[in-house]
Amino acid sequence: MTAALEFKEVSYTYPGAPPGAMALERVSLRVEPGERLGVLGPNGGGKSTLLKIAMGLIDGYSGQATVFGMPPRRARRDGLIGYLPQRIEAELAFPISVRQTVASAAALRTAPWRRPAPDVRARVERAIDLVGVAPLADRPIGKLSGGQLQRVMIARAIATAPRILALDEPTVGVDAVGQRRFADLLGTLHRELGLTIVIVSHDIRGIAAACDRVACLARTLHFHDSPGGLTPRILAEAFSHQVEGVFGEVHIDAHAASECAHDHHHGNAHGAGGARADD
Ligand code: ADP
Ligand code: MG
Repeated sequence: MTAALEFKEVSYTYPGAPPGAMALERVSLRVEPGERLGVLGPNGGGKSTLLKIAMGLIDGYSGQATVFGMPPRRARRDGLIGYLPQRIEAELAFPISVRQTVASAAALRTAPWRRPAPDVRARVERAIDLVGVAPLADRPIGKLSGGQLQRVMIARAIATAPRILALDEPTVGVDAVGQRRFADLLGTLHRELGLTIVIVSHDIRGIAAACDRVACLARTLHFHDSPGGLTPRILAEAFSHQVEGVFGEVHIDAHAASECAHDHHHGNAHGAGGARADD
């Protein structure tokens, strides 16, 4: 079967970055249709870069990336991926309503001088309904709470009737109740629309409740079978770069390193052989 999303040995360095300062290094990844993958990693780990490549927003990477067997750019043009970018503040400055926000994505494939076709309008209303913001449809988006805005952005991402939903740090600024509702919402979308879901986040809470499978990304990618397999040790491993900045070098025992290094072939098992096992 064609993978929903597939990366083969994808490496990327931003233009102007120092030589060797790769954002992604030989990242291989396969997400089956209908799967829900969470990618957990520290700030600067390459999570947003990974999604931007999948969205066809970054070129010039090495290796191969495909979305349902197509180059990412084409998949985006065909509306196969719905995307919730990490930064949405800029859009809040526009005094547009919830409905207009959702419609702005759904109308992408309609020539701008034409009225949206009835099926586009129906898709917009369905998306608004599905995420539960119908009572807010005429409100300006600048007046919403964090959780409400998140739902609107998800409505916008699914309004193109995509087959994959890609979410970048979706739970930042959302409280505990909002996080639970968010996980429920993703469960509903997964069930009702058969969506493949990819969430990248540094926040484990945003991932654990909503995904079937988890990978850790800190420039290179390490796989785990289930969120339940995410132990404190694995997290310590994934976040050791960040923690080192605060506490100095971090030692993680060999067992944890081998768990996190489960499916990786490219070195970078820093911490292996360290001495601490007290979690
Ligand atoms: P994450 O989303 O996991 O925090 P990013 O994908 O945003 O990580 O960043 C990965 C690396 O690439 C970081 O070192 C970051 O500083 C660098 N980077 C990100 N965006 C740019 C950019 N537009 N130009 C140059 N470097 C960038
Ligand atoms: Mg990011």
